[in-house]
Order: sequence, then structure tokens, then C-alpha cells
Amino acid sequence: MAEYTPKERLARALTGKEVDRMPAVCVTQTGTVEQMDECGAAWPEAHADAEKMATLAEAGHTMIGFEAVRVPFDITAEAEFFGCGIKPSTRVQQPSVISHVINEVGDIAKFEGYDLSEGRINEVCKAIKILADKYGDELPIIGSMIGPFSLAQHLTGDSWFMTIMTDEEFGMKVMEFTTAFNIAYAKKQIENGADTMAVIDPTASYQLIGADFYEKFVTPFHTQFMDAMHELNVPVALHICGDTTGGLSLMEKCGVDAISVDQNVDAAAAVSKVDKAIIIGNLDPVSMLWNQGEVNVEAIKEESKKVMEAGVGLLAPGCGIVSNTPTVNLQTMIEEAKKWTY
Ligand SMILES: [Zn+2]
Repeated sequence: MAEYTPKERLARALTGKEVDRMPAVCVTQTGTVEQMDECGAAWPEAHADAEKMATLAEAGHTMIGFEAVRVPFDITAEAEFFGCGIKPSTRVQQPSVISHVINEVGDIAKFEGYDLSEGRINEVCKAIKILADKYGDELPIIGSMIGPFSLAQHLTGDSWFMTIMTDEEFGMKVMEFTTAFNIAYAKKQIENGADTMAVIDPTASYQLIGADFYEKFVTPFHTQFMDAMHELNVPVALHICGDTTGGLSLMEKCGVDAISVDQNVDAAAAVSKVDKAIIIGNLDPVSMLWNQGEVNVEAIKEESKKVMEAGVGLLAPGCGIVSNTPTVNLQTMIEEAKKWTY
């Protein structure tokens, strides 16, 4: 049987090629407090300092056992880059966006000509370089970012959902702006050594906006992004939160390689809805993997088997890992994935 490096194995699995067994990776955030305690790089610094970011990402491989390294750990660096207010992270909690910078179409122009070598997004690129120099021959280097729809919401605020329904021209201009940024930022991550992209677009949800608005405000922009990545031979995994079951065939139309579904989705139903894209998921990161900080090995083994039997391409958490998740719970999921042949 063929032996692959973890890098080859993931690239093959994401593009629907035969592999010897399931790769054990996580496309959502991997940072936990136990890793921070052991490796010495912790939030909030590891969100902002390339060396610390790389060190904590590396712990996801050396300590937890994921067969990939992935940065960053949050989805606010992009909004911060454009000047949105950020509630800082603590050791256990992610940063969040608290104020917005685009109120009307004219506000977009003031951001044109932005410099990607500034701010925290530059630290993410530097962290990718550190990881790629060390692990790039062997491990997948997963670069991640917020998706264009959720970034549009961060930039404009909660009025975003009203905007797309009442002011199509403004909505389209914001999506064109965020998508161009996403593509430029992803290309920079790739230049620094990322070989796989994980796009987290939590609010680009069919469930929230319905099929018509999804096809108008999400599909064309996700398609642009996927096309740009595929030109560079970089596969993309897309994560959208909530019960995406009814929207999966729509989500797939953009040409994405893999769709990460959350724990509200029935894995078998998800697999039946997609044509080519592989499904990633979907152990509950809260009730199953964190489990109020308790070790939950037997339940995780059982649920992992159920999810893999349902036909997912990659066994993974249904959303970002909770920072207080016990290491052994994640290791249990990883061991189950590594035992699985398709
Ligand atoms: Zn999610």
C-alpha cells in the first residue's frame, strides 16, 4: 500500500484521490490552554506575534498529534486590519469585533491601496513562513482566514443583513472589496508557504439569508476565491456554522474542495447532499470534545466511528476547538481518524 507524507495524504484526500488512510487534521482553530501551558506561547500574544503564533500552532502537531499545522486561531485580524474595534483576547477566549468602519458605499474608497505587510495579518504570514521552513516538506501548512461575507459583516456591522436585502449596489461593492482582499491575503499566505486554505465564513449561511441571497451575495464571490486558489493548485476547505444541510449543494457550486459542517448537521445527510466536495466534520466541540473539561474517551471513539461510517472525508471538530478542551479528547479523535481506511 502506498505510503504518503501527511502533506501528500491531505492534498490527495482534499482532491478526491485515493489515500492509504484518513489524514488527521483540523481546519478550524487548534489552540488550547493545555498546549499554551506546555509550549509557552499563549493567547493573547499568540494571536499577534508570529513566533508565538507558530509555536502554538506547532504544539497542535507535536503535542496533540494533528498531521498539519494551522494558523491563526481567530477571525478578527482582517477586520482589525481595516480599523474595526476589537475586544482583546484572554488566555481562554477569542478576540471579537466590537465596532465597524463601513457605513456607506463611499467609505470603501478610503481603504483602497492597503498594505498587506502591516498589522496582525502580516504576523500570520510570518508565522506561516516559520512553519513552512520547518515543516513544509512533510506537513500540510494550513493558512486560514475569515471569508468575504463574514468580513463584510465585520466591516459594516449587523446592518449588513439589512443592507443586502435593501441596497444591492452597496452590498455588492462591499463583497467585491472583501473578496479582492481575501484573494490578495490568501496569495500572500501561499507565497509564505501555505499549501491549503481554510476559509471560515460563519455567517455566510443559507440558513440565515436563504437561497436567493446566498446565490447573489455569496456564490459568485466564493467562486472567485476558489478559482484564484485553484490556479495556484491550493485546495480550499470552507467552514460555515449552523445547520447547513439544506444549503450544501448550493455551497458546493463555488467549486470548493471540502466543506466543514458543524455539529448541527447530520453527517450522513451532508454526505448525500454533495457531489464532489468532501465533507469534514463534525464532532461537537462543546458537548463531546470539551465536555466541561472532562475526559470523554469512550464517547468520542463511538461518535467518531459513527461520523466516519456516515462517509465524511475528514473526521474533525464541527467548529473551532474550545480552548479548555482536554488534550486526551483531541488525541482520541485523532487516533480514530488515523485508523480509518475509506
Ligand atoms: Zn462554526
